[in-house]
Amino acid sequence: CGVFGIFGHPEAANLTYLGLYALQHRGQESCGIVSSDGIQLKAHLGMGLVADVFKHDDIFTKLPGSSAIGHVRYSTAGGNDMKNCQPIMVDYSRGSIAVAHNGNLVNAPEVRSALEKSGSIFSTTADTETIVHLIARAKSESLVERVCESLQQVKGAYSLAFLTETRLIAVRDPSGFRPLSLAKLDGAFVVASESCAFDLIEAEYIREIEPGEMIVIDKKGMKSYFPFKEKVRNTPCIFEYIYFARPDSRIFNRMVYPVRKEFGRQLARKYPVDADLVIAVPDSGMPAAMGFAEEAGLPFELGLIRNHYVGRTFIEPQQSIRHFGVKLKLNPVREILEGKRVVVVDDSIVRGTTSRKIVKMIRNAGAKEVHVRISSPPTSYPCFYGIDTPSRKELISASHSIDEIARYITADTLCYLDIAGLHAALRQFGDHKVDFCDACFSGEYPIRFPRLTDTNQLG
Ligand code: 5GP
Ligand code: SF4
Ligand code: MG
Repeated sequence: CGVFGIFGHPEAANLTYLGLYALQHRGQESCGIVSSDGIQLKAHLGMGLVADVFKHDDIFTKLPGSSAIGHVRYSTAGGNDMKNCQPIMVDYSRGSIAVAHNGNLVNAPEVRSALEKSGSIFSTTADTETIVHLIARAKSESLVERVCESLQQVKGAYSLAFLTETRLIAVRDPSGFRPLSLAKLDGAFVVASESCAFDLIEAEYIREIEPGEMIVIDKKGMKSYFPFKEKVRNTPCIFEYIYFARPDSRIFNRMVYPVRKEFGRQLARKYPVDADLVIAVPDSGMPAAMGFAEEAGLPFELGLIRNHYVGRTFIEPQQSIRHFGVKLKLNPVREILEGKRVVVVDDSIVRGTTSRKIVKMIRNAGAKEVHVRISSPPTSYPCFYGIDTPSRKELISASHSIDEIARYITADTLCYLDIAGLHAALRQFGDHKVDFCDACFSGEYPIRFPRLTDTNQLG
Protein backbone atom coordinates (compact mmCIF):
# COMPACT_ATOMS: atom_id res chain seq x y z
CA CYS A 1 0.00 0.00 0.00
CA GLY A 2 0.91 3.65 -0.28
CA VAL A 3 0.38 6.43 2.24
CA PHE A 4 0.35 10.20 1.79
CA GLY A 5 -0.39 13.15 4.08
CA ILE A 6 -0.22 16.94 3.93
CA PHE A 7 -0.76 19.62 6.57
CA GLY A 8 -1.13 23.37 6.06
CA HIS A 9 -1.81 23.78 2.35
CA PRO A 10 -4.97 25.36 0.83
CA GLU A 11 -5.06 22.66 -1.85
CA ALA A 12 -4.58 19.70 0.49
CA ALA A 13 -7.01 17.25 -1.14
CA ASN A 14 -5.83 18.06 -4.67
CA LEU A 15 -2.20 17.57 -3.74
CA THR A 16 -3.08 14.31 -1.99
CA TYR A 17 -4.71 13.15 -5.20
CA LEU A 18 -1.50 13.87 -7.09
CA GLY A 19 0.57 12.18 -4.39
CA LEU A 20 -1.58 9.06 -4.62
CA TYR A 21 -1.22 9.13 -8.37
CA ALA A 22 2.56 8.88 -7.95
CA LEU A 23 2.12 6.03 -5.45
CA GLN A 24 -0.34 4.07 -7.57
CA HIS A 25 2.18 1.25 -8.16
CA ARG A 26 1.92 0.41 -4.42
CA GLY A 27 -1.72 -0.63 -4.76
CA GLN A 28 -4.37 -0.60 -7.44
CA GLU A 29 -7.31 -2.16 -5.66
CA SER A 30 -8.83 0.83 -3.92
CA CYS A 31 -7.95 4.33 -2.77
CA GLY A 32 -9.25 7.18 -0.69
CA ILE A 33 -8.70 10.65 0.69
CA VAL A 34 -9.82 12.16 4.01
CA SER A 35 -9.50 15.92 4.46
CA SER A 36 -10.01 18.27 7.39
CA ASP A 37 -11.14 21.89 7.39
CA GLY A 38 -10.17 22.24 11.04
CA ILE A 39 -13.66 21.41 12.28
CA GLN A 40 -14.60 18.12 10.70
CA LEU A 41 -13.25 15.31 8.54
CA LYS A 42 -14.62 14.51 5.08
CA ALA A 43 -13.88 11.35 3.09
CA HIS A 44 -14.07 10.03 -0.43
CA LEU A 45 -13.14 6.39 -1.01
CA GLY A 46 -13.65 3.88 -3.77
CA MET A 47 -12.58 0.70 -5.49
CA GLY A 48 -10.18 1.05 -8.40
CA LEU A 49 -7.44 3.36 -9.61
CA VAL A 50 -6.90 6.90 -8.33
CA ALA A 51 -7.78 8.41 -11.71
CA ASP A 52 -11.13 6.56 -11.71
CA VAL A 53 -12.14 7.04 -8.09
CA PHE A 54 -11.41 10.80 -8.30
CA LYS A 55 -12.69 11.28 -11.82
CA HIS A 56 -15.06 14.17 -11.16
CA ASP A 57 -13.87 17.64 -10.15
CA ASP A 58 -16.76 18.16 -7.76
CA ILE A 59 -15.33 15.44 -5.51
CA PHE A 60 -12.64 17.90 -4.47
CA THR A 61 -15.15 20.58 -3.47
CA LYS A 62 -16.45 17.97 -1.02
CA LEU A 63 -12.97 17.53 0.44
CA PRO A 64 -12.29 21.02 1.82
CA GLY A 65 -9.57 22.14 4.19
CA SER A 66 -5.84 22.56 4.44
CA SER A 67 -4.94 19.07 5.64
CA ALA A 68 -5.54 15.62 4.18
CA ILE A 69 -4.31 12.04 4.13
CA GLY A 70 -4.66 9.47 1.38
CA HIS A 71 -4.13 5.80 0.71
CA VAL A 72 -3.75 3.39 -2.21
CA ARG A 73 -4.43 -0.19 -1.29
CA TYR A 74 -3.88 -3.75 -2.27
CA SER A 75 -5.08 -6.31 0.18
CA THR A 76 -2.58 -7.92 2.47
CA ALA A 77 -4.97 -8.42 5.39
CA GLY A 78 -8.71 -8.35 5.04
CA GLY A 79 -10.65 -9.00 1.86
CA ASN A 80 -10.73 -6.77 -1.17
CA ASP A 81 -14.06 -5.06 -1.01
CA MET A 82 -15.43 -1.59 -0.52
CA LYS A 83 -15.59 -1.68 3.27
CA ASN A 84 -11.85 -2.29 3.49
CA CYS A 85 -10.96 0.90 1.62
CA GLN A 86 -8.71 3.32 3.49
CA PRO A 87 -8.25 5.78 5.11
CA ILE A 88 -10.42 4.25 7.84
CA MET A 89 -12.34 6.96 9.67
CA VAL A 90 -14.08 6.75 13.05
CA ASP A 91 -15.96 9.10 15.33
CA TYR A 92 -15.49 8.61 19.04
CA SER A 93 -16.03 10.52 22.26
CA ARG A 94 -13.37 13.14 21.50
CA GLY A 95 -13.91 13.75 17.80
CA SER A 96 -12.87 11.97 14.66
CA ILE A 97 -9.72 10.26 13.55
CA ALA A 98 -8.72 8.76 10.21
CA VAL A 99 -5.81 6.45 9.49
CA ALA A 100 -3.96 5.28 6.39
CA HIS A 101 -1.76 2.21 6.87
CA ASN A 102 1.00 0.53 4.89
CA GLY A 103 2.14 -2.72 6.44
CA ASN A 104 0.60 -5.60 8.28
CA LEU A 105 -0.01 -6.13 12.00
CA VAL A 106 1.05 -9.63 12.92
CA ASN A 107 -0.98 -9.77 16.14
CA ALA A 108 -4.16 -8.14 14.77
CA PRO A 109 -6.36 -11.27 15.16
CA GLU A 110 -5.53 -11.54 18.88
CA VAL A 111 -5.97 -7.84 19.56
CA ARG A 112 -9.18 -7.82 17.62
CA SER A 113 -10.80 -10.72 19.42
CA ALA A 114 -9.87 -9.18 22.78
CA LEU A 115 -11.46 -5.88 21.70
CA GLU A 116 -14.57 -7.64 20.41
CA LYS A 117 -14.96 -9.55 23.68
CA SER A 118 -15.07 -6.24 25.49
CA GLY A 119 -17.61 -4.70 23.17
CA SER A 120 -15.88 -3.10 20.14
CA ILE A 121 -17.79 -3.50 16.92
CA PHE A 122 -15.61 -3.78 13.82
CA SER A 123 -16.89 -2.59 10.48
CA THR A 124 -14.05 -3.92 8.31
CA THR A 125 -11.97 -7.08 8.17
CA ALA A 126 -8.71 -5.12 7.88
CA ASP A 127 -5.98 -5.31 10.53
CA THR A 128 -5.75 -1.51 10.47
CA GLU A 129 -9.10 -1.10 12.18
CA THR A 130 -7.68 -2.53 15.41
CA ILE A 131 -5.53 0.61 15.71
CA VAL A 132 -8.46 3.02 15.65
CA HIS A 133 -10.40 0.95 18.18
CA LEU A 134 -7.39 0.93 20.48
CA ILE A 135 -7.12 4.72 20.17
CA ALA A 136 -10.83 5.21 20.84
CA ARG A 137 -10.50 3.17 24.04
CA ALA A 138 -7.12 4.38 25.22
CA LYS A 139 -6.97 5.77 28.75
CA SER A 140 -4.48 8.60 28.25
CA GLU A 141 -5.60 12.21 28.06
CA SER A 142 -3.75 13.64 25.06
CA LEU A 143 -4.11 12.34 21.53
CA VAL A 144 -0.38 11.80 21.20
CA GLU A 145 -0.37 9.60 24.30
CA ARG A 146 -3.44 7.74 23.12
CA VAL A 147 -1.78 6.92 19.81
CA CYS A 148 1.39 5.79 21.63
CA GLU A 149 -0.59 3.70 24.09
CA SER A 150 -2.37 1.98 21.20
CA LEU A 151 0.69 1.33 19.09
CA GLN A 152 2.47 -0.30 22.06
CA GLN A 153 -0.15 -3.04 21.78
CA VAL A 154 0.31 -3.91 18.13
CA LYS A 155 3.20 -5.76 16.54
CA GLY A 156 4.44 -5.92 13.00
CA ALA A 157 4.90 -3.51 10.14
CA TYR A 158 3.27 -0.11 9.98
CA SER A 159 3.91 3.17 8.29
CA LEU A 160 0.91 5.25 9.30
CA ALA A 161 -0.64 8.63 8.64
CA PHE A 162 -3.35 9.77 11.07
CA LEU A 163 -5.55 12.79 10.54
CA THR A 164 -7.72 14.49 13.16
CA GLU A 165 -9.56 17.79 12.84
CA THR A 166 -6.43 19.69 13.81
CA ARG A 167 -3.45 17.38 13.49
CA LEU A 168 -1.49 15.12 11.21
CA ILE A 169 0.49 12.30 12.84
CA ALA A 170 2.95 10.09 10.96
CA VAL A 171 4.51 7.00 12.55
CA ARG A 172 6.89 4.24 11.51
CA ASP A 173 7.08 0.96 13.42
CA PRO A 174 10.25 0.43 15.49
CA SER A 175 11.65 -2.12 13.00
CA GLY A 176 11.11 0.27 10.10
CA PHE A 177 9.79 -2.35 7.68
CA ARG A 178 8.01 0.03 5.32
CA PRO A 179 9.31 3.39 4.10
CA LEU A 180 7.90 6.82 5.00
CA SER A 181 9.48 10.20 4.36
CA LEU A 182 8.98 13.85 5.15
CA ALA A 183 9.01 16.89 2.86
CA LYS A 184 7.97 20.54 2.78
CA LEU A 185 5.95 22.48 0.25
CA ASP A 186 5.35 26.25 0.60
CA GLY A 187 5.50 25.97 4.38
CA ALA A 188 3.22 22.90 4.45
CA PHE A 189 4.48 19.54 5.76
CA VAL A 190 4.11 16.48 3.54
CA VAL A 191 4.62 12.77 4.28
CA ALA A 192 4.66 9.95 1.73
CA SER A 193 5.67 6.31 1.35
CA GLU A 194 8.07 7.21 -1.45
CA SER A 195 9.79 10.39 -2.54
CA CYS A 196 8.40 10.10 -6.09
CA ALA A 197 5.20 11.58 -4.61
CA PHE A 198 7.16 14.66 -3.49
CA ASP A 199 8.70 15.08 -6.95
CA LEU A 200 5.32 15.25 -8.61
CA ILE A 201 4.00 18.03 -6.36
CA GLU A 202 7.41 19.75 -6.25
CA ALA A 203 7.78 19.35 -2.51
CA GLU A 204 11.27 19.49 -1.08
CA TYR A 205 12.48 16.19 0.40
CA ILE A 206 13.63 16.65 3.99
CA ARG A 207 14.37 13.19 5.37
CA GLU A 208 13.19 9.67 6.09
CA ILE A 209 11.00 9.34 9.16
CA GLU A 210 13.09 7.13 11.48
CA PRO A 211 12.04 3.64 12.59
CA GLY A 212 10.08 4.08 15.82
CA GLU A 213 9.61 7.79 15.21
CA MET A 214 6.32 9.60 15.55
CA ILE A 215 5.90 13.01 13.96
CA VAL A 216 3.10 15.28 15.10
CA ILE A 217 2.18 18.27 12.95
CA ASP A 218 -0.29 20.99 13.91
CA LYS A 219 -0.72 24.73 13.50
CA LYS A 220 2.25 25.37 15.78
CA GLY A 221 4.64 23.25 13.71
CA MET A 222 6.20 19.82 13.83
CA LYS A 223 7.36 17.74 16.79
CA SER A 224 9.24 14.45 16.76
CA TYR A 225 8.91 11.70 19.40
CA PHE A 226 10.42 8.27 19.92
CA PRO A 227 7.69 6.77 22.09
CA PHE A 228 8.62 3.08 21.89
CA LYS A 229 10.61 1.91 24.88
CA GLU A 230 11.47 -1.52 23.58
CA LYS A 231 14.59 -1.50 21.41
CA VAL A 232 14.35 -3.64 18.29
CA ARG A 233 16.60 -4.16 15.29
CA ASN A 234 16.11 -1.89 12.30
CA THR A 235 14.91 -4.30 9.58
CA PRO A 236 13.65 -2.40 6.52
CA CYS A 237 12.21 -4.52 3.72
CA ILE A 238 14.85 -5.48 1.15
CA PHE A 239 12.10 -6.34 -1.33
CA GLU A 240 11.23 -2.64 -1.61
CA TYR A 241 14.61 -2.24 -3.33
CA ILE A 242 14.18 -5.38 -5.44
CA TYR A 243 10.70 -4.77 -6.78
CA PHE A 244 8.15 -2.81 -4.86
CA ALA A 245 9.30 0.81 -4.74
CA ARG A 246 9.63 2.93 -7.86
CA PRO A 247 13.22 3.18 -9.15
CA ASP A 248 13.06 6.98 -9.10
CA SER A 249 12.23 7.00 -5.38
CA ARG A 250 14.43 7.56 -2.40
CA ILE A 251 13.55 5.14 0.41
CA PHE A 252 15.46 4.11 3.54
CA ASN A 253 17.82 7.04 2.79
CA ARG A 254 18.86 5.72 -0.59
CA MET A 255 17.80 6.00 -4.24
CA VAL A 256 16.27 2.75 -5.47
CA TYR A 257 17.58 2.89 -9.04
CA PRO A 258 21.33 2.49 -8.40
CA VAL A 259 20.68 -0.26 -5.84
CA ARG A 260 18.55 -2.18 -8.32
CA LYS A 261 21.19 -1.78 -11.01
CA GLU A 262 23.87 -3.05 -8.63
CA PHE A 263 21.79 -6.19 -8.01
CA GLY A 264 22.11 -6.81 -11.77
CA ARG A 265 25.86 -6.21 -11.68
CA GLN A 266 26.31 -8.69 -8.84
CA LEU A 267 24.25 -11.20 -10.77
CA ALA A 268 26.43 -10.83 -13.88
CA ARG A 269 29.58 -11.24 -11.82
CA LYS A 270 28.34 -14.42 -10.14
CA TYR A 271 26.54 -16.02 -13.06
CA PRO A 272 28.09 -14.93 -16.35
CA VAL A 273 26.87 -16.54 -19.56
CA ASP A 274 27.96 -16.68 -23.19
CA ALA A 275 25.25 -14.71 -24.93
CA ASP A 276 24.57 -12.13 -27.64
CA LEU A 277 22.38 -9.67 -25.80
CA VAL A 278 20.59 -8.82 -22.57
CA ILE A 279 16.91 -7.93 -22.34
CA ALA A 280 14.68 -7.07 -19.40
CA VAL A 281 11.19 -8.11 -18.42
CA PRO A 282 9.75 -4.60 -18.35
CA ASP A 283 9.32 -2.58 -16.27
CA SER A 284 10.44 -4.17 -13.03
CA GLY A 285 13.44 -6.01 -14.51
CA MET A 286 14.82 -2.96 -16.32
CA PRO A 287 17.42 -1.46 -13.95
CA ALA A 288 18.86 -4.88 -13.00
CA ALA A 289 19.08 -5.86 -16.68
CA MET A 290 21.01 -2.67 -17.44
CA GLY A 291 23.40 -3.40 -14.59
CA PHE A 292 23.81 -6.97 -15.85
CA ALA A 293 24.54 -5.84 -19.42
CA GLU A 294 27.04 -3.20 -18.28
CA GLU A 295 28.91 -5.64 -16.09
CA ALA A 296 28.85 -8.44 -18.69
CA GLY A 297 29.85 -6.10 -21.53
CA LEU A 298 26.86 -7.23 -23.59
CA PRO A 299 24.45 -5.05 -25.56
CA PHE A 300 21.20 -4.17 -23.82
CA GLU A 301 18.12 -4.27 -26.05
CA LEU A 302 14.40 -3.78 -25.68
CA GLY A 303 13.39 -7.31 -26.64
CA LEU A 304 10.02 -7.17 -24.94
CA ILE A 305 7.72 -4.18 -25.28
CA ARG A 306 5.16 -3.49 -22.63
CA ASN A 307 1.67 -2.20 -23.13
CA HIS A 308 1.28 0.34 -20.35
CA TYR A 309 -2.48 0.37 -20.35
CA VAL A 310 -2.73 -2.98 -18.59
CA GLY A 311 -2.51 -3.27 -14.79
CA ARG A 312 0.04 -5.42 -13.03
CA THR A 313 -0.80 -9.02 -13.94
CA PHE A 314 0.14 -10.18 -10.47
CA ILE A 315 -2.74 -8.28 -8.90
CA GLU A 316 -5.42 -10.01 -10.94
CA PRO A 317 -7.07 -12.74 -8.94
CA GLN A 318 -7.75 -15.58 -11.36
CA GLN A 319 -5.16 -17.92 -12.77
CA SER A 320 -6.92 -17.90 -16.16
CA ILE A 321 -6.77 -14.12 -16.43
CA ARG A 322 -3.14 -14.08 -15.40
CA HIS A 323 -2.15 -16.46 -18.21
CA PHE A 324 -3.80 -14.30 -20.78
CA GLY A 325 -2.49 -11.18 -19.05
CA VAL A 326 1.13 -11.77 -20.01
CA LYS A 327 0.26 -11.55 -23.70
CA LEU A 328 -1.87 -8.51 -23.11
CA LYS A 329 1.03 -6.87 -21.42
CA LEU A 330 4.17 -7.92 -23.33
CA ASN A 331 5.08 -8.37 -26.97
CA PRO A 332 8.46 -9.72 -28.16
CA VAL A 333 10.46 -7.91 -30.85
CA ARG A 334 11.33 -10.62 -33.35
CA GLU A 335 13.93 -8.52 -35.20
CA ILE A 336 15.94 -8.24 -31.99
CA LEU A 337 15.59 -11.82 -30.74
CA GLU A 338 15.74 -14.00 -33.85
CA GLY A 339 18.69 -16.41 -33.89
CA LYS A 340 20.16 -14.86 -30.74
CA ARG A 341 21.40 -16.22 -27.42
CA VAL A 342 19.36 -14.09 -25.05
CA VAL A 343 19.80 -13.27 -21.37
CA VAL A 344 16.49 -12.17 -19.89
CA VAL A 345 16.59 -10.44 -16.51
CA ASP A 346 13.66 -10.15 -14.12
CA ASP A 347 13.40 -9.11 -10.48
CA SER A 348 11.71 -12.18 -9.03
CA ILE A 349 9.89 -15.42 -9.68
CA VAL A 350 6.87 -15.94 -7.47
CA ARG A 351 4.59 -18.55 -8.98
CA GLY A 352 6.64 -19.11 -12.11
CA THR A 353 3.65 -18.75 -14.40
CA THR A 354 4.68 -15.38 -15.84
CA SER A 355 8.28 -16.43 -16.34
CA ARG A 356 7.20 -19.59 -18.17
CA LYS A 357 5.05 -17.57 -20.59
CA ILE A 358 7.82 -15.07 -21.16
CA VAL A 359 10.46 -17.70 -21.95
CA LYS A 360 8.07 -19.32 -24.44
CA MET A 361 7.33 -15.95 -25.96
CA ILE A 362 11.05 -15.22 -26.47
CA ARG A 363 11.63 -18.64 -28.04
CA ASN A 364 8.64 -18.25 -30.34
CA ALA A 365 10.18 -15.01 -31.52
CA GLY A 366 13.17 -17.04 -32.72
CA ALA A 367 15.70 -16.86 -29.87
CA LYS A 368 18.27 -19.67 -30.02
CA GLU A 369 18.92 -19.82 -26.28
CA VAL A 370 17.13 -18.24 -23.32
CA HIS A 371 19.08 -17.68 -20.12
CA VAL A 372 17.02 -16.38 -17.23
CA ARG A 373 18.69 -14.28 -14.52
CA ILE A 374 16.72 -13.19 -11.46
CA SER A 375 17.94 -10.24 -9.39
CA SER A 376 16.74 -11.71 -6.08
CA PRO A 377 16.96 -15.10 -4.36
CA PRO A 378 14.18 -17.70 -4.74
CA THR A 379 11.02 -16.43 -3.00
CA SER A 380 10.40 -19.39 -0.71
CA TYR A 381 8.49 -17.86 2.21
CA PRO A 382 5.44 -15.61 2.49
CA CYS A 383 5.73 -12.06 3.79
CA PHE A 384 3.88 -11.18 6.99
CA TYR A 385 4.92 -7.53 6.94
CA GLY A 386 2.78 -5.99 4.25
CA ILE A 387 3.77 -7.43 0.86
CA ASP A 388 1.11 -9.59 -0.66
CA THR A 389 3.09 -12.74 -1.49
CA PRO A 390 0.83 -15.71 -2.03
CA SER A 391 0.65 -18.59 0.45
CA ARG A 392 3.59 -20.94 0.62
CA LYS A 393 2.05 -23.62 -1.54
CA GLU A 394 1.75 -21.21 -4.46
CA LEU A 395 5.40 -20.14 -4.24
CA ILE A 396 7.19 -22.30 -6.76
CA SER A 397 10.50 -22.04 -4.88
CA ALA A 398 8.97 -23.35 -1.68
CA SER A 399 8.60 -26.80 -3.20
CA HIS A 400 10.95 -26.90 -6.20
CA SER A 401 14.69 -26.76 -6.72
CA ILE A 402 16.24 -24.21 -9.07
CA ASP A 403 16.82 -27.00 -11.62
CA GLU A 404 13.18 -28.00 -11.46
CA ILE A 405 12.08 -24.40 -11.89
CA ALA A 406 14.44 -23.99 -14.86
CA ARG A 407 12.78 -27.00 -16.49
CA TYR A 408 9.31 -25.73 -15.67
CA ILE A 409 9.90 -22.33 -17.20
CA THR A 410 11.83 -24.01 -20.06
CA ALA A 411 14.94 -21.86 -19.62
CA ASP A 412 18.33 -23.06 -20.91
CA THR A 413 19.83 -21.80 -17.66
CA LEU A 414 18.32 -20.12 -14.62
CA CYS A 415 20.30 -18.32 -11.90
CA TYR A 416 19.18 -16.24 -8.95
CA LEU A 417 21.16 -13.62 -7.07
CA ASP A 418 21.83 -15.12 -3.64
CA ILE A 419 21.20 -13.48 -0.27
CA ALA A 420 24.89 -12.68 0.15
CA GLY A 421 24.81 -10.94 -3.24
CA LEU A 422 21.85 -8.80 -2.21
CA HIS A 423 23.58 -7.66 0.95
CA ALA A 424 26.87 -7.16 -0.89
CA ALA A 425 25.07 -4.84 -3.31
CA LEU A 426 23.59 -2.81 -0.47
CA ARG A 427 26.97 -2.57 1.24
CA GLN A 428 28.24 -0.78 -1.87
CA PHE A 429 25.93 2.02 -0.79
CA GLY A 430 27.21 2.13 2.76
CA ASP A 431 24.43 0.14 4.42
CA HIS A 432 26.80 -1.77 6.70
CA LYS A 433 24.81 -1.36 9.85
CA VAL A 434 21.31 -1.87 8.50
CA ASP A 435 19.99 -5.36 8.99
CA PHE A 436 17.51 -5.58 6.12
CA CYS A 437 14.60 -8.00 6.40
CA ASP A 438 15.02 -10.79 3.84
CA ALA A 439 12.54 -13.24 5.37
CA CYS A 440 10.74 -14.08 2.12
CA PHE A 441 14.08 -15.48 0.88
CA SER A 442 15.73 -16.71 4.08
CA GLY A 443 12.74 -17.66 6.24
CA GLU A 444 14.32 -15.69 9.09
CA TYR A 445 11.47 -13.53 10.28
CA PRO A 446 12.67 -10.55 12.35
CA ILE A 447 9.38 -10.37 14.27
CA ARG A 448 7.91 -13.65 15.32
CA PHE A 449 4.55 -14.16 13.79
CA PRO A 450 2.15 -15.75 16.28
CA ARG A 451 0.67 -17.99 13.63
CA LEU A 452 4.13 -19.08 12.50
CA THR A 453 4.00 -21.89 15.00
CA ASP A 454 1.02 -23.13 13.02
CA THR A 455 2.72 -25.03 10.20
CA ASN A 456 -0.41 -24.86 8.06
CA GLN A 457 0.26 -21.21 7.58
CA LEU A 458 3.65 -21.96 6.14
CA GLY A 459 2.72 -25.18 4.39
P1 5GP B 1 5.82 -15.23 -11.89
O1 5GP B 1 6.92 -15.64 -12.82
O2 5GP B 1 6.09 -15.67 -10.51
O3 5GP B 1 4.48 -15.66 -12.36
O4 5GP B 1 5.78 -13.63 -11.87
C1 5GP B 1 6.88 -12.89 -11.47
C2 5GP B 1 6.66 -11.48 -11.92
O5 5GP B 1 5.66 -10.89 -11.11
C3 5GP B 1 7.91 -10.61 -11.78
O6 5GP B 1 8.14 -10.01 -13.03
C4 5GP B 1 7.52 -9.55 -10.78
O7 5GP B 1 8.02 -8.29 -11.20
C5 5GP B 1 6.01 -9.57 -10.80
N1 5GP B 1 5.32 -9.18 -9.55
C6 5GP B 1 4.22 -8.41 -9.50
N2 5GP B 1 3.81 -8.22 -8.27
C7 5GP B 1 4.66 -8.86 -7.46
C8 5GP B 1 4.74 -9.00 -6.03
O8 5GP B 1 3.97 -8.45 -5.25
N3 5GP B 1 5.73 -9.79 -5.59
C9 5GP B 1 6.64 -10.36 -6.45
N4 5GP B 1 7.63 -11.09 -5.94
N5 5GP B 1 6.60 -10.22 -7.77
C10 5GP B 1 5.62 -9.49 -8.28
FE1 SF4 C 1 10.10 -7.43 2.67
FE2 SF4 C 1 10.32 -10.03 2.25
FE3 SF4 C 1 10.70 -9.02 4.70
FE4 SF4 C 1 8.27 -9.03 3.60
S1 SF4 C 1 9.46 -10.82 4.18
S2 SF4 C 1 9.23 -7.35 4.72
S3 SF4 C 1 8.72 -8.68 1.43
S4 SF4 C 1 11.96 -8.66 2.85
MG1 MG D 1 7.86 -7.83 -13.33
